[in-house]
Amino acid sequence: MMKALYYKTLENGVVKCKLCPHYCLIGDNEHGLCNVRVNKEGELYSEFFEKVTAIGLDPIEKKPLYHFYPGSTILSVGSLGCTMRCLFCQNYRISHPTPQSYDDSNLFTVKAIVKMASEQENNIGIAFTYNEPGTFYEYMISVAKLAKPTGLKTVMVTNGYINREPLEEIIPFIDAFNVDLKAFSESFYKSITNSRLAPVKKTISRLSSSKKHLEITNLVIPGMNDNYSEFEEMVRWIAGETGDRTVLHISRYFPNFQMQIASTPINILIDLYAIAKKHLKYVYLGNVFDVERDTTYCDQCHNSLIVREPGKTTITGLDKLGNCTQCGNHVLDHI
Ligand code: SF4
Repeated sequence: MMKALYYKTLENGVVKCKLCPHYCLIGDNEHGLCNVRVNKEGELYSEFFEKVTAIGLDPIEKKPLYHFYPGSTILSVGSLGCTMRCLFCQNYRISHPTPQSYDDSNLFTVKAIVKMASEQENNIGIAFTYNEPGTFYEYMISVAKLAKPTGLKTVMVTNGYINREPLEEIIPFIDAFNVDLKAFSESFYKSITNSRLAPVKKTISRLSSSKKHLEITNLVIPGMNDNYSEFEEMVRWIAGETGDRTVLHISRYFPNFQMQIASTPINILIDLYAIAKKHLKYVYLGNVFDVERDTTYCDQCHNSLIVREPGKTTITGLDKLGNCTQCGNHVLDHI
């Protein structure tokens, strides 16, 4: 248990959490909506500080990050809880924890994680992922602060539902972000995720202006967020707000948790891919076997730059500076 970083104690002992836009009001011995922040006698605590439910050395492509040290691996760490309540949650066992998930977690101190990451072969750093890392913010920032001076890279895979102040504090200690943009309508966010779209858009805008590496993921659920014109509006916004070189991952949904709609038809994903490519230079399909739409091509001369097959990434047309070997176009900043 660790004292939380962003909260205010009100006169009656109720605590107002200021970490995410829910601004939960939490009574004594009660938890916030994320289930992992608890009020103890007027103070807010991160209840599962240094408790890890999932840890492993993953390909960076799994985060997904496609333009950040392609072909590398990264020590990936997750804990418990989430600031959203997505009906289709793909990680609900740790995002919406039961007493059993608490029991299954293991203690990894801040120092232990950084030491482990430093000792792994072919590891570029530490990714905060699996569940929403905003819920273990104190752990994440402690690890990231210790890791950065050692040269380890840090990655945050997030739903983007975080307030401005904690976001500003974490930005200097994270090298790359992948933000889930789950849909482009407030009604979807409200009814399917129990959150709001506007704060997520603000996070994306801020990360883009920070010049940190940013990629965006959109999970497509048939009949829920696959309206072509709404999707195109979203892609136009991404291009206008963050630039047309921002990587977009269009990801296939599979039934999970409280949503049992059949998985996304491939033809819908292909149509959305074509729409996205009208506005963005780098678009990929996720959760499908499609080497063609998973390959990076030079946006100038269409040379094949990075080929991704299941479990294997091959750099085919980039030099050590991230330039296309055929036309010299600069494509990747991190290679
Ligand atoms: S981080 Fe958790 S407790 Fe804090 S406002 Fe968000 S959901 Fe509520």
